[in-house]
Amino acid sequence: MYLAIEDALNSKHPLKNIVEKVLHNIRLSVSDGIHLYESNDLALLGSLAQFVREQKAGSKYAKYVYYINNMHLNPTNYCVETCRFCSYANIKTKSYTWTIEQVLTKVKAASEFGITEIHMVGGLNPDCDLNYFTDIMKVIKNEYPNIHLKAFTAVEIEYFAKLHKLSYETVLTRLIEAGLGSMPGGGAEIFNETVRQKMKVKKTPAVTWLKIHDIAHKLGLKSNATMLTGIGENIEHKIEHLNYLRNQQDKSGGFLCFIPLKCYYEGTDIKDEVTEPTGYDLLKDIAISRLFLDNFPHIKAYWVQLGEKIAQIAINFGADDIDGTIFEERITHAAGTKTPLNLACKEMEELISTAGFIPCQRDTLYNQVKIGQDSLLLNC
Ligand code: SF4
Repeated sequence: MYLAIEDALNSKHPLKNIVEKVLHNIRLSVSDGIHLYESNDLALLGSLAQFVREQKAGSKYAKYVYYINNMHLNPTNYCVETCRFCSYANIKTKSYTWTIEQVLTKVKAASEFGITEIHMVGGLNPDCDLNYFTDIMKVIKNEYPNIHLKAFTAVEIEYFAKLHKLSYETVLTRLIEAGLGSMPGGGAEIFNETVRQKMKVKKTPAVTWLKIHDIAHKLGLKSNATMLTGIGENIEHKIEHLNYLRNQQDKSGGFLCFIPLKCYYEGTDIKDEVTEPTGYDLLKDIAISRLFLDNFPHIKAYWVQLGEKIAQIAINFGADDIDGTIFEERITHAAGTKTPLNLACKEMEELISTAGFIPCQRDTLYNQVKIGQDSLLLNC
């Protein structure tokens, strides 16, 4: 038992009731979630989250931290939307759209490093319709049948449906036929409408984002979920967001992983209106999501956004995944993160093992590919 947990149980700690609930595997309420956010006892939050993560993993896997050997593919950065926190989307004059040949060249380069996953997302571009993407996917799958395609946020699915006047089911079915293997969790931002209106987020309200993931799960796809912080939200908005996700997971059960994200402000005009999350806030998001999202198998400390050092701490706060090697990350770097553009498998393994855990390379669906730090076993 962690010392901080024992201390809370043996005192009149304000979170004592919540600690007892966690230890007895009782679901936390919305007000419990808010109390957790109100607490400054970071040691206790981290200890509780780590306790839950270990229980969920079981004793055999309690020390495993996952990473994946993957690439990011962002075929277009032009977007018809104008979300105020976005630095990635660009006006037409500064935008790019890759040809299929350009996409293949990038995939070929990454494939030589043994990637198992392509994570593909982009802007909402009328020139990049469903046919553009199904063509890209078919070519990739033809050349690299063993690489898993995790692609398209719910925002992109909604856009394709509007553009072609198709149902979400039809769009997703066509993408699955072209090789879609799973969906990422982006585009959820913060579900709260007041925050979204201030940030001029017109796309994909909560009900639509959740419905699209619901349909995807029913069609057999796994997906992830995110929450973007630093855009004017408060702790009630965060718990409201997590509660939407937990309810959806109860219904459709297809979420693999939750990933808290932090806004970077370079190229935006919102910095003076919002409070930038501190390292303390980021660790709370990791720990509290682990405690509140009791039906999510994995919590990810996305190293590109957190930085390698906070990611290492986060895996002591309930996270069991630090994402991947990420060839060609563009979205967070467009917004000003100073992390490297990618890391090799060896560096991912060092990040994990020097924090006291066992690195486990996984595939997209969390099947274990390789355990331990012997990078020479694989071509990466
Ligand atoms: S966040 Fe997404 S939808 Fe909004 S402007 Fe950026 S790329 Fe477009």
